[in-house]
Amino acid sequence: MNTIFNYVFTYPRIPIFAKGSFKLLNIQADKVMISLLILQWFIATFVTSILYDTYYYGFFGGGLIVVPIMILYPFLKGDNFYRYLIAIAMMLFSVIFIQQYLGRIEMHFHIFITMAILTLYKDIFPLLVAAITTIMHHIIFNYLQLYEVTLFDMPVMVFNYGCGFDIVILHAIFVMSEFLVLGYLIRLQREHNIDLNIARNKVFELNKELKHTSLHDSLTGLPNRLYLNEQIEKVKEYADKNSQKFAIVFLDLDHFKNINDTLGHDVGDALLQTVANILRNVVNKNDLITRIGGDEFIIVISDFENDDELLPIISNLLEKFRQELLIKGYSLRLSASIGVSIFPDDSASIRELMKYADIAMYNAKADGRDNFSFFTQSLNTKIHNEVDIINDIQRAFYDNEFKLYYQPKIDANSRKIVGAEALLRWIHYEKGIIGPDVFIPLAESTGFMLGLGKFVIQESSRAIRRFSDLGHHDLKISINISTRQFQNTDLYHDLKDELSINSVNPNQLGIEITESIMIQHINKTLTTLREIKNLGVSIYIDDFGTGYSSLSYLKKFPIDTLKIDKSFVDDINEDANNDELLLNTILAMGKSLGLDIIAEGVESEFQYNYLREQGCDIIQGYYFAKPMPEEDFIKLLREEHL
Ligand code: C2E
Ligand code: CA
Ligand code: CA
Repeated sequence: MNTIFNYVFTYPRIPIFAKGSFKLLNIQADKVMISLLILQWFIATFVTSILYDTYYYGFFGGGLIVVPIMILYPFLKGDNFYRYLIAIAMMLFSVIFIQQYLGRIEMHFHIFITMAILTLYKDIFPLLVAAITTIMHHIIFNYLQLYEVTLFDMPVMVFNYGCGFDIVILHAIFVMSEFLVLGYLIRLQREHNIDLNIARNKVFELNKELKHTSLHDSLTGLPNRLYLNEQIEKVKEYADKNSQKFAIVFLDLDHFKNINDTLGHDVGDALLQTVANILRNVVNKNDLITRIGGDEFIIVISDFENDDELLPIISNLLEKFRQELLIKGYSLRLSASIGVSIFPDDSASIRELMKYADIAMYNAKADGRDNFSFFTQSLNTKIHNEVDIINDIQRAFYDNEFKLYYQPKIDANSRKIVGAEALLRWIHYEKGIIGPDVFIPLAESTGFMLGLGKFVIQESSRAIRRFSDLGHHDLKISINISTRQFQNTDLYHDLKDELSINSVNPNQLGIEITESIMIQHINKTLTTLREIKNLGVSIYIDDFGTGYSSLSYLKKFPIDTLKIDKSFVDDINEDANNDELLLNTILAMGKSLGLDIIAEGVESEFQYNYLREQGCDIIQGYYFAKPMPEEDFIKLLREEHL
């Protein structure tokens, strides 16, 4: 049968993707048909009552047709079979009621209209069913009339003139031609609709693709932050409903920037892809893995009861990262820092959870990297305090709350003040004195240290000017230069400018740098240091002995003085033989290179005496004096010796 119709109508095939929308269309058509049936039911009742005064016949007869259709709607809507039932029902109204009370012509007109309406189903079969119903009606009622049967006390009459089978065939031909015309109409409608569907589907696919690219990271193929934001809401809803937990695991690669900078972006990119694969392998398939930026990943782990269950996953991750990775011919060792926050224990707000995981991750980094940390409220307070400080630094700067304190440096033999180290202090209007160990790392992290560094250069130059004006022309003041400041400012010109503005003798100024500066960007550092040295400014190596510098470095760089770190001075022990001390070696090495030596953090007389005997030139430490404000230092300068 199907093939016959395909042959007659070359019926367009419905593509799979369009099936759904056809079904929707048919459900809508079902609704239209049911409304029409109800309307017809109403007409049948109404017409009957006026003409024949047989309300019951109209009402119950119509109801018999309409009510089953209505009852079946929720179960069968959109179904092929339901469409055929509706076609029969529609036709029954024409052939029973319309024909009965309005006449044959009206009936045929009505049949045609009904079949036309049935084309709303983009389906040939309801039409066929309707046509067959009509033909069957003609055949059945023809014979009912022949045998003079009565229905509901009314004689059945199909044709009011003598009937014959030829007439039935004639009607069948009418109906079939109606069927062909309307069938063709359906074909046109369907073709058009499929075109539309194809177009709609293309748009849909394109949208899907666009959505995929906007929600995924093209490098690793992992979902991105946008996707995470979308999905995590769903995860939260689910967890909320089922009173379950989920964890936000924030993973950040350690020193990724170094790899990118030194080995190039190709290697960096390949590394990120490897990392994505490691994550895919280690993390459960049901958990969400996203790359939210550069070397930052967020994994959402759900479906665990106890926080301890997360530990194996996390340590496994860290373990996998530690393995040697072969990437583009480089064998790289990687590590990651991980921070974890848990819903709903830490917070019920996604935004807060994300922030907390981030805070925990930074804590893991601060704890020495290659590490993980769970969020706790105390971490939060710590960060809050730090944020408060960061926000306050700028204000403090303009309120002149930063001051330089001076810690005297004493000649070991004469006990005279030969100079001082300038040390920053923050005299906070509310909190009192804040030490540099608290605010300098924070100022560094925001870049504000550069401004603060300039301030130190300016302020120390002015102070040297004041000390000279008081007659202290040989006093040497040293200032500390952070690594960041050394690398990101034009230190040479800053020093040169300030010295000349205040007409200060460059010999009275020294800079203290740490060993770590020397091993980074060697050539540039060397050039800068030579320029500074040529200016007349002295160069001190601070915290000496704690870094990585070797003898060859010390020879290469234009250094004047080593400042032996306090930790070596602490080793000097009153009750033991001090022959084996590292301090002795350092002292001997410095001397052999012809460098001056300052011992830092000298707190006792014993330490002082020992250092002097070992040939240490200059002593700095609480034993003689703590860092102090400029006025106090000036007062101290008046003393012969300490
Ligand atoms: P540093 O350069 O090693 O400075 C010496 C630190 O040791 C100072 O701490 C000083 O007060 C302390 N100290 C000196 N003698 C003794 C002693 O006998 N016993 C003990 N326990 N400590 C002693 P301070 O002033 O708190 O400075 C800490 C660090 O902050 C400095 O370490 C320096 O790295 C940094 N810093 C201070 N001022 C500046 C600055 O203007 N610029 C930069 N970049 N860093 C600064
Ligand atoms: Ca120092
Ligand atoms: Ca030091």
